[in-house]
Amino acid sequence: MMETLTLLGSTGSIGKNALRAAKRLNLRIKALAAGKNVTEMENTAREFSPELVALYDERAAGDLRARLADTPIKVLGGADGVLAVASTAADCCLNAIVGAAGLLPTLAALDSVKRLALANKETLVMAGAHVLRTAREKGVEVLPVDSEHSAIFQCLRGEEKRFRRIILTASGGPFYGKTSAELANVTAADALKHPNWSMGAKVTIDSATLMNKGLELIEAMHLFSVEPERIKIVVHRESVLHSAVEFEDGAVIGQMGVADMSIPIQYALSFPLRAPTDLPPLELEKLGSLSFSLPDRHTFRCLPIAERAAKLGGAACAAMNAANEVAVARFLDGKTGFLDIADSVERLCEGYSGDASPQRALEIDREVRERAQSLWR
Ligand code: NDP
Repeated sequence: MMETLTLLGSTGSIGKNALRAAKRLNLRIKALAAGKNVTEMENTAREFSPELVALYDERAAGDLRARLADTPIKVLGGADGVLAVASTAADCCLNAIVGAAGLLPTLAALDSVKRLALANKETLVMAGAHVLRTAREKGVEVLPVDSEHSAIFQCLRGEEKRFRRIILTASGGPFYGKTSAELANVTAADALKHPNWSMGAKVTIDSATLMNKGLELIEAMHLFSVEPERIKIVVHRESVLHSAVEFEDGAVIGQMGVADMSIPIQYALSFPLRAPTDLPPLELEKLGSLSFSLPDRHTFRCLPIAERAAKLGGAACAAMNAANEVAVARFLDGKTGFLDIADSVERLCEGYSGDASPQRALEIDREVRERAQSLWR
């Protein structure tokens, strides 16, 4: 049973939910890291009394240091501060940083913990093969936090490797059923209205473009050592079946539950045990029926772009991830249209293929961001 936790991205949607799970499970928080949200971090630090907290933004860290001067809590800033939190010895590190910024902290955590609970899917998209190999070598167990991957993990318990394929479900996002013409003028505010899940801005936009499902395809390939051809993506609007696994004999085992991240987050911390949550029960009779269909790859072009990258290898995945991050940030800033996201990603990640070490993935990340800057200067 886990007793101590370091939490990266503690001020975000997953991070705050993880703090509630830690409270339920009576875990002691040893260190916290986030980007720049001083007030949220101050409140959390006062409530959980960790030894160390860090904010990536140096100025915000300075402000936090002044605010916490009456406590014994050590406050660090910058990328090194975040790495110091990730390197703090604990039973488990939950990485809920958003984006490529999560990769180096993941690698640092592998030297300091017994379990890595991974919400930061970008880590696996950029360097999944290396991260999982290193984790195996160091005896660190990696548990998925993403609801679909947690579902697959739960379905596979005791039967790893002997499955035929994975059925990866997708909600379809806020723009399900819309045509390209209808999507031409949608705004960030429209795209941020997810029908089933309340999440941070970047993953909500990824969900609207279906890039999220592409990133999850790559995440699943690494976590479950499976080729993309054996992962079937199915749109399931109700988000009740969180994913399923089809076994060799044709039996399909799925995991269902209310659409709330509390379940997979807590499971990644409590595994192999289960613990109560305060969620309402799943009343199947009130749902009446569940629907399943194929994604519209013609309108939501980010999905086939990610499927191509998945086949091209780690370098293409790292490039696509960076291109997507910059394109989504521009869309959120109102500088570009929804449909331009796929165009930009396709253009920016052209020319990358083959394997990539984490160092190479980070280089590619920088190259693509520089390319984007010169393109949009
Ligand atoms: P949020 O945007 O809500 O939170 C992101 C967190 O990352 C914040 O704490 C933010 O800090 C922190 N952060 C940003 N940049 C840095 C940095 N350079 N160094 C340290 N911390 C940083 O995102 P979510 O919680 O929604 O998502 C987090 C991750 O989990 C993503 O990879 C997402 O894809 C994945 N995920 C999320 C799900 C969800 O339901 N939300 C479901 C499945 C996966 P600050 O706020 O202080 O800037």
